[in-house]
Amino acid sequence: MDPLTAFFCPTEADRERLLDLETTLRRARLLTYASIAVALGVLGLWIQWWNLLLVAALAVGYELAIRRRLSRSDHPALLVIVGFVMNVAVTAGGVVITGGPHSPLLPWLIIPIVSLAGRFDGRGVWCGTGLVLVALGAVAITQPHALVENPTMVIAIVPLSIAVGLFSAAMMRAERRQRAESSLDPLTGLLNRKSLQGRVGELAEQARMTGESVALIALDVDHFKQINDTYGHARGDDVLRAIAGAIRGELRSFELAYRVGGEEFLIVLPGIDLEHGTGVAERLRERMASLRPDGIGLTVSLGVSAGRGDEVTFVGLFDAADRALYSAKRGGRNRVEALSLAGTDDRAVAEVEALVQRSGLAGVNELSPPSAVPPPGHPLLS
Ligand code: GH3
Ligand code: MG
Ligand code: MG
Repeated sequence: MDPLTAFFCPTEADRERLLDLETTLRRARLLTYASIAVALGVLGLWIQWWNLLLVAALAVGYELAIRRRLSRSDHPALLVIVGFVMNVAVTAGGVVITGGPHSPLLPWLIIPIVSLAGRFDGRGVWCGTGLVLVALGAVAITQPHALVENPTMVIAIVPLSIAVGLFSAAMMRAERRQRAESSLDPLTGLLNRKSLQGRVGELAEQARMTGESVALIALDVDHFKQINDTYGHARGDDVLRAIAGAIRGELRSFELAYRVGGEEFLIVLPGIDLEHGTGVAERLRERMASLRPDGIGLTVSLGVSAGRGDEVTFVGLFDAADRALYSAKRGGRNRVEALSLAGTDDRAVAEVEALVQRSGLAGVNELSPPSAVPPPGHPLLS
């Protein structure tokens, strides 16, 4: 994971929030741009009309450079920060050309602060608020005479920026604490199964909008009961923690891992198709086989599913991954099975068979059509 994302979004829940919030904030952002455009249309009677062009450029630039790339970016925090700086810089530019310290657009510098608290913890809010205050100082001194003649607007906006930062950060901190308690697994620090459905819902919406694929990997530790029986429950817990850490280490910033049962994990891979999802699962299988936490050897079985666009639903993806996992267990464990969401889609079957032949991956099995493997009635689906 990149250091910026690790610094601003230290927990798995923070990263989940950063990724999910983009869809949630979209409507608010578009309405804000629209209200700014209307205000600039009216303000055009007093200030230059072409400020409207700045807003249009900002809206389009954000959509293309940030929003579309966020769900699959290796550096999601960096992208959000670039978007924030873009917003502040363009607003500051508008302020400079419309009167500097006396510009009616000066209060708009505060708008980007509001979105920070939802995306980052206190660090992000304070860095962002600091940047806005620096921008405020910079635009004020571009016209020193105007500033000396009447600094009232600039002075009044300083506590307003700080208050918005303080209150939004405090409210979000409380909300985040509650959410972490209910969405994080206390043993491993991964997300728990309760938060999974919401995440897949967000991804389904994104997949519908973009037509992109989403892959899901179900991972189950082989014969974990024997590990408990042999080494005791406490060391079993240590093994689970080590597995969770190793899974996290194999994933990129925007890929999230969930502990959905005792020794069962789910990994959500946005923008990844069945072939690549199978590759990730195989990498995980190899990593786990070489892990040996506390000298304890272990293997895992993995089931992979993937869907694209409208196909992506929580139940559909999960059901297919679970069938594939069941098949991997039946096939002898320590292996990967893959199943397209379309199930009997011949193209998907051929794709995976071709992958198996091309790569010669140890432990990756032929695709089993869903009818050949009865669903095991997993508790997540009941
Ligand atoms: P299989 O290869 O078929 O998956 O065999 P298994 O032994 O892994 O599967 P089974 O479902 O029979 O056993 C899972 C075990 O996981 C049983 C339960 O005691 C243990 N377990 C569940 N939650 C925890 C936990 O939080 N800590 C520890 N140490 N063990 C747990
Ligand atoms: Mg097991
Ligand atoms: Mg199990």
